Amino acid sequence: RPAFVSQSRYNSQVAKFKGQKGSDGKYTVTLIEGDGIGPEIAQSVKDIYSAANVPIKWESVDVTPTLKDGKTVIPDEAIDSVRRNYVALKGPLATPVGKGHVSLNLTLRRTFNLFANVRPCKSIQGYKTPYDNVDTVLIRENTEGEYSGIEHVVVDGVVQSIKLITREASERVLRFAFQYAQSVGKPKVRVVHKATIMKMSDGLFLNLGREIAKDYPDVEFDAELLDNACLKVVTDPTPYNDKVLVMPNLYGDILSDMCAGLIGGLGLTPSGNIGDECSIFEAVHGSAPDIAGKGLANPTALLLSSIMMLQHMGLHEHANKIQAAIFKTLAEGKTITGDLGGKSKTHEYAGAVIKNL
Ligand code: NAD
Repeated sequence: RPAFVSQSRYNSQVAKFKGQKGSDGKYTVTLIEGDGIGPEIAQSVKDIYSAANVPIKWESVDVTPTLKDGKTVIPDEAIDSVRRNYVALKGPLATPVGKGHVSLNLTLRRTFNLFANVRPCKSIQGYKTPYDNVDTVLIRENTEGEYSGIEHVVVDGVVQSIKLITREASERVLRFAFQYAQSVGKPKVRVVHKATIMKMSDGLFLNLGREIAKDYPDVEFDAELLDNACLKVVTDPTPYNDKVLVMPNLYGDILSDMCAGLIGGLGLTPSGNIGDECSIFEAVHGSAPDIAGKGLANPTALLLSSIMMLQHMGLHEHANKIQAAIFKTLAEGKTITGDLGGKSKTHEYAGAVIKNL
């Protein structure tokens, strides 16, 4: 079953991947190991893929920004690699707080026009959380909203950050949400918004949702206010399991972390940044500087992101095999990392997953 894209787009993307198969029968995938715990969790992915004989060759690239014509840019080699391979797996990249620091994560999303951020949250059997029945999917507009980076000082003590909502970007992500719902068999799409207050910006997003819904008569459409959605999802997430939630950028960033909390935290939640040209898969969490270099990180979120990537590439058999081994290891609960209440090191957990393959 195609995941993440419409059948036609899926067919064309899978055709691209198939075209990328080398004479050794392997697909080349760009790997951005990232900062902090990035290299440690990327190593687990590499070890598990190698043990599972996944036909993938990793092309590691460095995304340390360089200065070009006075602007901070990602090195051309990294950009060329992602464009050439169509898919990349990415570890977390740290963003220093404060003026003058461009977020590399935002730059990557903009460079490749990765317009939809897909964040599924599914309860993991055997890992006890207040709920054991969560199966939400949230799609976040990934290129504009409050994250469009348009900020200025009006007068001393007064600053303005622009929330940019365009018909083009909204329509693109809304259509994607309907196509995604169809492809994964969720019967409903729900827009989450604050059009009661942001009448023009969220109003545009919501009204477009209503219009576009007419093109997808087999998918039910409705809408909910963001604050209500927050209250309801933590009270009982079950009614959200048959819906794909789609929303402007900032709301999606926050609500998806809340959903992550329902299934046991950031160590378990994957995501995909989907574009027409290429797609980048990454864990929802950051570089975890507090535990970096200690071998304590949980690689599950990056692993599950890589599973989304395999599904996107049409490599379902390998995706299912690795996913089953991860879930079995977590359900056994003997070899799990500290964030999940265990005592195992990153490489010990990866070793247990390999045994369960
Ligand atoms: P964080 O997600 O890095 O860490 C939050 C908490 O969760 C920490 O206590 C950390 O130890 C824990 N944690 C996160 N991932 C874990 C894992 N895999 N295993 C075990 N524990 C884990 O958030 P932060 O501390 O706010 O951000 C640190 C840096 O990461 C910042 O520079 C931030 O900008 C960056 N960041 C990057 C991305 C990305 O690359 N997409 C996303 C979020 C944050």
